[in-house]
Amino acid sequence: MIIIMLGAPGTGKGTVASMLEKNIGIKQISTGDIFRKNMQEKTELGKIAEKYISKGNLVPDDITIQIVKDRLEQKDVQNGAILDGFPRTIEQAKALDKILEEKSKKVDMVLNLTTPEDEIIERIVNRRICSNPECKTIYNLVMNPPKQEGICDKCGSKIVQRKDDNEETIKSRIKLYMEQTSPLIKYYEEKGILRTEEVSIKINHLGKDVAEEVAKDINNIAK
Ligand code: AMP
Repeated sequence: MIIIMLGAPGTGKGTVASMLEKNIGIKQISTGDIFRKNMQEKTELGKIAEKYISKGNLVPDDITIQIVKDRLEQKDVQNGAILDGFPRTIEQAKALDKILEEKSKKVDMVLNLTTPEDEIIERIVNRRICSNPECKTIYNLVMNPPKQEGICDKCGSKIVQRKDDNEETIKSRIKLYMEQTSPLIKYYEEKGILRTEEVSIKINHLGKDVAEEVAKDINNIAK
């Protein structure tokens, strides 16, 4: 089963994807996490990606598509994957369709998360992540702080703020989302596989609720 997480930055794609991974037993593939790991390890890819990510720009399609193509070859995702942060452009979506078609697979569900913009900015400014690439637990300093300041509850590693999680970069990332990524909503709607969920404290519907509901539906279908 192939699931795509769609939504502006800060809508909770990563949180929902990692909860779904646990609930339905399908691996999350986050292009942002792959880039951050390479940036941390200062690989060639990391150096290239940093130039774009630090300015709030998208990494070029050819580089990103190749990374996902290679990742989808690996053994642990042959029963499915939750793509978190990919595709982000129509070109990436078309390339993904082609990659999957060659494997006689297809996108089964696109989970489109929406959140009011004021809440997105508040959430991103307060977002912190575990620096351990094997853990990557996401915290929010207001809503979901770690028990001990600066330390991950799960693995004890240092908690850090993403370099691109500042107010200036967020605005350009949201603008980019509107211009380049939001056309994907129509693209997948026309294929009849789009499921839109609002994630907002204002309606008391958070990422964990969406993950639970979607997992329940998927597990029911599988029965
Ligand atoms: P994320 O963790 O998904 O918010 O991604 C962090 C940053 O990595 C984005 O703001 C982009 O600069 C870059 N990135 C992640 N996924 C993609 C993608 N599919 N295409 C281009 N750039 C991406």
